[in-house]
Amino acid sequence: MKRLLAIAATLAFSLFSANSQAAEKLKLLIVDGQNNHNWKATTPILQEFLNRCGRFEVSVTTTPPNKSPAEAWNDFRPKFAGFQVVLSNYNGELWPEPVQRDLEKFVGAGGGLVIVHAANNAFEQWSDFNKMIGLGWRGNGFGDRITTNDAGEIVRTPKGQGPGAGHGPQHEFTIRLRDTAHPVVKGMPAEWLHTKDELYHGQRGPAADMHLIATAFSDSAKGGTGAHEPMIWWIPYGKGRVFTTVMGHETYSMKCVGFQSVVARGSEWSATGQVTLPIPESFPTAEKTNSAP
Ligand code: ZN
Repeated sequence: MKRLLAIAATLAFSLFSANSQAAEKLKLLIVDGQNNHNWKATTPILQEFLNRCGRFEVSVTTTPPNKSPAEAWNDFRPKFAGFQVVLSNYNGELWPEPVQRDLEKFVGAGGGLVIVHAANNAFEQWSDFNKMIGLGWRGNGFGDRITTNDAGEIVRTPKGQGPGAGHGPQHEFTIRLRDTAHPVVKGMPAEWLHTKDELYHGQRGPAADMHLIATAFSDSAKGGTGAHEPMIWWIPYGKGRVFTTVMGHETYSMKCVGFQSVVARGSEWSATGQVTLPIPESFPTAEKTNSAP
């Protein structure tokens, strides 16, 4: 009888652990609430594809609107430590000091941080945020600029020289991998066509310990700089990994299967240092974009 009980207990235990493993999703927090972009339409897209891939349990925290009275911010105290990764879809007023310190503590202790498009426009005056993102939407006097030459070699342009942040008219453009072995992009085509988006150029910042993963050629004929501009990169901050993509201007830019794969895999990697999510069969090719339904 004792033996039978022991077997039953073992069986129950292994069933339980198999179950809990299957259910073990990464807790991801999207922050939004202010943006010069349509965050009320883009957050649901982020939520949808991050949930759909099955790897995340997605929550959203929304700041008070622009120009709220100071008291309105007293309730904005996200519990970053309860998550594995924070994704910013926020470009607006500076967060209260305690929230800034909490995010620094969270990433410093190994938490993941993912920056999407205009999220890198925010917080020019927050020094550690600039360290985390490396490059932000800033004027050319703010910091260095990073591009690559045609051979893919990193070119660092000192502050004060060359263009500051900008973009030409929106168009489809080619994402070119510069670190094909990086877990987030490993197995993706070396070049793939992204759906219509803003091609950011002249991003500026300290760009220290910056690991460039992908670029796009910013064509002078299309309002660009004639240089290969950073599109995807990461920066270590304490024990954490900060993953940035400047793609994602509008809903149609975020529908790109390539964008979604980059953000989902980037979020997983930022949180864990590993990528288990497969690259979808419908991934864009060098010649053809592909949008999720
Ligand atoms: Zn934009």
